[in-house]
Amino acid sequence: MESLTPKTLDELTEALAQATSGSRIIAGGTDLVIQMQRGQTEPDLLIYPGQIPELRTILLQKDKLHVGAMVTMQELTAALQSIPEFCAISDAASGVGTPQIRSKATIVGNLCNASPAGDMLPIGKLYDLKLKIVSKDGTMSLIPIDQFILGPRKNALQIGQAVVGLTINRKRWVGYVSAFRKIGFREYVSIAREGMGALVKRLPDGMIQDARLTLGAVATTPIRIPEAEVLMAGRVLDENLLREVAAITARTIHNNCRPANRLYKTEAAQGLVADLFDLLRKRT
Ligand SMILES: Cc1cc2nc3c(=O)[nH]c(=O)nc-3n(C[C@H](O)[C@H](O)[C@H](O)COP(=O)(O)OP(=O)(O)OC[C@H]3O[C@@H](n4cnc5c(N)ncnc54)[C@H](O)[C@@H]3O)c2cc1C
Repeated sequence: MESLTPKTLDELTEALAQATSGSRIIAGGTDLVIQMQRGQTEPDLLIYPGQIPELRTILLQKDKLHVGAMVTMQELTAALQSIPEFCAISDAASGVGTPQIRSKATIVGNLCNASPAGDMLPIGKLYDLKLKIVSKDGTMSLIPIDQFILGPRKNALQIGQAVVGLTINRKRWVGYVSAFRKIGFREYVSIAREGMGALVKRLPDGMIQDARLTLGAVATTPIRIPEAEVLMAGRVLDENLLREVAAITARTIHNNCRPANRLYKTEAAQGLVADLFDLLRKRT
């Protein structure tokens, strides 16, 4: 197995030109190394882009957020935890694995790995994030998350392509508060059995103007809950709304998950929505 450590974007494209169908980018390695140990993949070439400065930066501008592909969960949490519209991202990033895992694992690695249980998949859908892709000929393109995650462990990257970062249209979410909660086997170091993200815009009197909800670890790719989003508009975050949203969420989970998981996943919806509402109320 060969390895390359490009230090500039040009060197990255040169490295990508040598890639075959068996080659892999390695970021934090917290998924890939385990897959290699298990013999699920045997890369002929590993490309580590961690020394390219542009891939390590977070750019928080008035109109957009850009996160480089090598930014870790730990760095992301620190940068976004006090920004209401991006708290959901830091909730999710701060709940991944252990501090050691979070100091290596990247949001882009989580998305590229495309596990249905990945915490960043419902986050990606929540914000309509776009992935910035570089190809071996140096061209750059932006792919919306829905076109990037194709199914369990399947993404849209072609041979000779890598993700260099992701962008979120911040203007779209100004004035919103956000939150993410997941339920796992344990409280800590737990792969999500279901995860839920919310973005809510409220008027000064507390009335909800607009809401968006996403669910992860339910279907093979993350899903929205349009029926609950419509219901929330014009209401306040009270116990009645909580009950109604939880009922719709439970029905959505029931209709989208595998029969074997239906019972516990559906029952867990009540607690998940209650936790999420709690966080949203505290953040206004
Ligand atoms: C103990 C433990 C606990 C965990 N807990 C959680 C958890 O709570 N929630 C959760 O969602 N996950 C969890 N994970 C899984 C893992 O940590 C995450 O999915 C992590 O975000 C992966 O990021 P990484 O940088 O380590 O990716 P890597 O392992 O480096 O890569 C993952 C995949 O993405 C590809 N890739 C990475 N970067 C790029 C790029 N720039 N361009 C193209 N392809 C790329 C790689 O080739 C590989 O196929 C856990 C893992 C462990 C070992």
